Amino acid sequence: MLGHLLHLEGIDSVIVENRSRDYVIERVRAGVLEHGTVDLMVKAGVGDRLLREGMRHSGIHLAFRGRRHRIDFEELTGHSITIYGQNEVVKDLIAARAATGRPLYFEADGVAVSESRMRFRWNEEEHDVACDFIAGCDGFHGISRPSIPTSHLRVYDRDYPFAWLGILAEAAPSSDELVYSLHERGFALFSMRSPAITRLYLQCAPDEALHRWPDERVWEELMTRLANADGWRPNTGPILQKGVTGMRSFVAEPMRWGRLFLAGDAAHIVPPTGAKGLNLAMADVSVLSRALAAYYRDNRQDLLDEYSDRCLARVWRAQRFSWWMTSMLHRASDGNEFDYRRQIAELEYVTSSRAAMTSLAENYVGLPLENAFGVTN
Ligand SMILES: Cc1cc2nc3c(=O)[nH]c(=O)nc-3n(C[C@H](O)[C@H](O)[C@H](O)COP(=O)(O)OP(=O)(O)OC[C@H]3O[C@@H](n4cnc5c(N)ncnc54)[C@H](O)[C@@H]3O)c2cc1C
Repeated sequence: MLGHLLHLEGIDSVIVENRSRDYVIERVRAGVLEHGTVDLMVKAGVGDRLLREGMRHSGIHLAFRGRRHRIDFEELTGHSITIYGQNEVVKDLIAARAATGRPLYFEADGVAVSESRMRFRWNEEEHDVACDFIAGCDGFHGISRPSIPTSHLRVYDRDYPFAWLGILAEAAPSSDELVYSLHERGFALFSMRSPAITRLYLQCAPDEALHRWPDERVWEELMTRLANADGWRPNTGPILQKGVTGMRSFVAEPMRWGRLFLAGDAAHIVPPTGAKGLNLAMADVSVLSRALAAYYRDNRQDLLDEYSDRCLARVWRAQRFSWWMTSMLHRASDGNEFDYRRQIAELEYVTSSRAAMTSLAENYVGLPLENAFGVTN
């Protein structure tokens, strides 16, 4: 996305990815786009398929004690969210990049960055690129953050005593909107990727062994945790993918070292309960593209200097929201019946008070996003 926003400003960039094109296109991860992310993609000219195929949702359900309660985002905030797989976003951005003819290297080896150079091997050839700036958009396990001296970075983090077992199933979604459920046996989430594919998650142990979860057991547990008094339940179908996703909150500050700027998961991780990871990455690069454009166009340094603080203000709000949603909806292994009753009381409050519902809704649809085309509210 950064490469595309820079292209629109007439700024050259080289994109280096260590995986193959097929791998990044098939990697199923996030799927909830905030309205600001949708707006950014549309204004950047990469939103046609998203507008055609994305599923616009105007709310979510919170389920507990066998009942579903709807939070109406549209009515509370005037905004909605869009379900469109992260891999579809990646596919559209790769196509847009290819159309510009600007460099995009897949399957690069031995990628290394310093403050002003990027080296990598591609097609058996060594490349050494002198860079005005480097954007470390290489995720939590990438090499950009570890390239910054540890004395320059301060890290804040928290691990959670649970993870998500996620499946992708060939089954038509049985609800038009996501269902987040707290059950005595733990959290479950009903979600979807398309009119034919359902995405479902179960709270599990961080070291959960997948072989202990044959398909029948997954469905049985999902039905137990999601089934509702109103008769609603997910449709079942062949399971296409199964995996365990860890949960973590992490922030590295500042998001800059000289000419190296960190963006997205390279600088921060949120537990997926608030659906913020992909959206935060989009927010970072829109701020960065604007700062770089001001540098090249008007010789301005100030926006580059403000980059880290501007992003972190949003990142910490998303951290708070993601932590809060996670704490409200999961059963911690060190929790007891008091905690469960307190969580139920919180859910009852959140689904009955307009003030509380609005607070959840405005965070979920996305806080104002500053981007190259202005600010969305
Ligand atoms: C299994 C899973 C499920 C998730 N589900 C959700 C969800 O439901 N909702 C949500 O909001 N978020 C979810 N997330 C988080 C979300 O996917 C991330 O927040 C988002 O991908 C961040 O984007 P990014 O561009 O910063 O990093 P990435 O998307 O991780 O992109 C970084 C890229 O850098 C490449 N790379 C890594 N190392 C190197 C290197 N040394 N050299 C060159 N390239 C390198 C990687 O291959 C990758 O393509 C999930 C994450 C995972 C892993």
